[in-house]
Amino acid sequence: MTMVSPELFAPEARRALVRLRHVYRVYRVSDTGVVALGGVDLDIPSGEFLAVVGPSGAGKSTILNLLGGLDRASAGTVEVDGQDLGLLDDDALTAYRAERIGFVWQGTARNLVPYLSVRENVRLPRILHRGAADRRRGSDELLRLVGLSARANHRVGELSGGEQQRAAIAVALSNTPTLLLADEPTAELDSVSSEAVLEAFRAVNREFGVTIVMVTHDLIAARRADRRIRVRDGRILMEGVHVDPVGNDGRVRLPDDAVAALGDAELEAEITPDEVRLRRRSETGHA
Ligand code: ADP
Ligand code: MG
Repeated sequence: MTMVSPELFAPEARRALVRLRHVYRVYRVSDTGVVALGGVDLDIPSGEFLAVVGPSGAGKSTILNLLGGLDRASAGTVEVDGQDLGLLDDDALTAYRAERIGFVWQGTARNLVPYLSVRENVRLPRILHRGAADRRRGSDELLRLVGLSARANHRVGELSGGEQQRAAIAVALSNTPTLLLADEPTAELDSVSSEAVLEAFRAVNREFGVTIVMVTHDLIAARRADRRIRVRDGRILMEGVHVDPVGNDGRVRLPDDAVAALGDAELEAEITPDEVRLRRRSETGHA
């Protein structure tokens, strides 16, 4: 079966901040191994807002944990900003995590200190990790960007779920991380709150150019990112192709590379609620 090579769909050559090469993560469970990642190759350009989608158990969180230095690959290389994380010892990895990474988790309990005010939460990472003070952003500026200026003096427990997630984004950004990692950040939110949280991600991405990797199985949330990749069974199925919005006449123009790769083969389309898949008729075995 001939497949369209994923390289044809690579985003234009911006500097890759993140490079995963043949990354495997195998968990040992009693006598056997569970393959959480089975050879992942991925480039993430600096400044990109990337969504990672896929079913439960696909390996999404595993990718995030490797990028954040919370876990190590069993094989392959995980490189962030030219640094091979596999070469760092535990102390260096801890420093990497503190200085370069911001996390936003699904549940607010892991993101925020409940008895502190929103502003105090945003200031906390700077108190804990001194250094590079000149690069830091004002907590009020961060709270404005995520739409929480009016809530700065409230305690976290007084905020709604969506407001807490936006506060978590401000906290994660307060130490000027290189990478903002979010694992199912809107999973517990209604659609209006989700939209506000996604807008906060977009705002910090736009204003600070911070690279964002957001794991989600919410396809509406994924659509707000610059690009989507799909993970299944520990592998990346296909890099998302950027296609301009459907025109007034209902046509979509495919990228030239895709047109070239598909050639004048006879195509067939599979339409699902979240995507339209084109493939050569001959690949499916149908006449
Ligand atoms: P996702 O976030 O996409 O739901 P995960 O990355 O959490 O998936 O998990 C990928 C696979 O690895 C799953 O099969 C999961 O059961 C397995 N796995 C994850 N963490 C562990 C662990 N600590 N021990 C054993 N297996 C694990
Ligand atoms: Mg997960």
